[in-house]
Amino acid sequence: MPASAKSLHLNQALKRYFGHDSFRPLQKEIIDETIAGRDVFALLPTGGGKSLCYQLPAIVDKGLTVIISPLIALMKDQVDGLEANGIHATYLNSSLNKTDAKQRYAKLFSGEYKILYVAPERLMLSGFLQDLKQWNVCRFAVDEAHCISEWGHDFRPEYRQLSKLRNFFPDTPFMALTATATERVRNDIVLQLRLKNPKSFVASFNRPNLTYRIETKQAVFRQILNFIQTKPFESGIVYCYSRKATEQLADRLSQNGIEALPYHGGMTPKKRAENQEAFIRDECKVMCATIAFGMGIDKPNVRYVIHQDLPKNIEGYYQETGRGGRDGLPSDCILFFSPGDVAKQLQFIAEIKYIKERDVAKDQLRQMVHYAESKECRRKVLLGYFSEEWTDGNCGNCDNCMQPKESFDGTLPAQKFMSCIFRVGQVSNFGVGINHIVDILLGSKNEKVRKWGHDRLSTYSIGQEHKRKEWQAFGRELIRDGYIDQNAENFGTLSLTSKGRQALRDRSSIELTRPSVIPEKAPRVTASTGNIDCDETLFATLRSLRKEIADEQGVPAYIIFSDVSLREMARDFPVNEDQLSEISGVGIKKLEAYGETFIEAIKEHLQSNPDVERFD
Ligand code: ADP
Ligand code: ZN
Repeated sequence: MPASAKSLHLNQALKRYFGHDSFRPLQKEIIDETIAGRDVFALLPTGGGKSLCYQLPAIVDKGLTVIISPLIALMKDQVDGLEANGIHATYLNSSLNKTDAKQRYAKLFSGEYKILYVAPERLMLSGFLQDLKQWNVCRFAVDEAHCISEWGHDFRPEYRQLSKLRNFFPDTPFMALTATATERVRNDIVLQLRLKNPKSFVASFNRPNLTYRIETKQAVFRQILNFIQTKPFESGIVYCYSRKATEQLADRLSQNGIEALPYHGGMTPKKRAENQEAFIRDECKVMCATIAFGMGIDKPNVRYVIHQDLPKNIEGYYQETGRGGRDGLPSDCILFFSPGDVAKQLQFIAEIKYIKERDVAKDQLRQMVHYAESKECRRKVLLGYFSEEWTDGNCGNCDNCMQPKESFDGTLPAQKFMSCIFRVGQVSNFGVGINHIVDILLGSKNEKVRKWGHDRLSTYSIGQEHKRKEWQAFGRELIRDGYIDQNAENFGTLSLTSKGRQALRDRSSIELTRPSVIPEKAPRVTASTGNIDCDETLFATLRSLRKEIADEQGVPAYIIFSDVSLREMARDFPVNEDQLSEISGVGIKKLEAYGETFIEAIKEHLQSNPDVERFD
């Protein structure tokens, strides 16, 4: 087939089976290469659309595509999703009973499926590879491929067995896909899977639909509640530092009428699975979780990810926020930040036994704090962490770009702060923390100040013109900018760096961030904008219709239609099958299965609301 006919063919299959009009970045290139028979390595961020990269080739090629995935719990949903699009697929894992497995084997031998999901350990069961040989396998796709590498954060020993696969299938094209891989892990994946001269694709890690925001943590429960109340019908995740905190938060939210459940590693596997299932099926809106939650959560319509406490590192934070907005619709990522959290984490870090590990943890925390306190574009800092440069200037979708922070000539307060550290060092042979310095500057009469004679220092009480919170912020900014060192091992005690000493001596001018006025009441966090504008009443109607159908069929709602599809319907009001098939996510199979029902609902809405607003 000539290249142009082939692409037409791919585009048609994309619309027919998945209902999408165009490819996401790199999808087309990846698909072309694997169809041409080459090995492929693909690094796409969460929500980048990795599944389509092996599902679409599976449809257009002859033979069986075998997908290796560690996430047994997800296989059923994925297969349900494919079947809902009219693609014959199945999975084999330990959750099946004998009769069921037998039936599936029979159909595999008779070539009825296009796609088979298996866990890596299954491949090594005796006889399985021999069976595979008879199933006309045209491609292997290894999902979550970073699990094969010991250098990665999620190494799974059973993945190591995959290196044997190549012996059995020397000429079958392999694909390796992942959302997390450093250079080292990337090379390791290629090596371990013995990919042959693979074509590598690395997509941008930018997630344009995510809004990043940092909020000052004050009355954090109130702040979270206020925010969630602005999104009563949406799903979200709140990450908490401790197991106990997840349970407390879920309780308090429930008491306030919000369907919330906890999720953490201390719960029984059964309870964890139940809560996760409730979340995926939209029966619980808010998941209050530790970082144990989320790996392989495929739910596309998570509309917000809140961090109640400071994450330990940027990598984790990026992955956790990445679970929002997989469907491409606007989603909020809010981090509640307080310096107290930093101090708490520094204490934990100080208890780490091995110096090397401790240094790594400290460095990661430093970068995390920098992210939280920076005046720069949040996107720029995040992408920079992954060595990706952000060159587009104002991103228009983070707090710092939307409400830039002002700086001012902070030479005077900086001088006061630093000379106070210097004076303390002259009279006391021990270091003190940030709050003690602020106490001195504000002229506090507390016990330590008096006991240590710090009320007799020349810097005592010279800082009345600023509030305590402001002084704390200045102090932290001076630490960030390298004028002051904060010792993690020693309770966060402060000392001047050589840069700080020099600035003090030379009275060099120093810029500081103007403190934002901190409101008395807990600030209201506003929700993001930029959604697909649509008739919200109709959207709500279609959403409950979707839920009814999903419950009847025992599948998650998003398997019926995505939020994107429903929003487009509530914007374009399709009233016949032709119009409905224009909607993104509506392929042939779904048109047949649900077209009439949804068209009826839309017509009914138009009849009872003759003057609906048009969104064009
Ligand atoms: P990943 O595994 O990379 O995190 P998924 O494969 O789960 O991403 O896809 C994320 C979402 O994007 C899914 O809801 C999927 O339907 C949607 N999607 C994938 N490709 C496209 C496309 N070309 N156009 C529109 N939506 C897409
Ligand atoms: Zn920005």
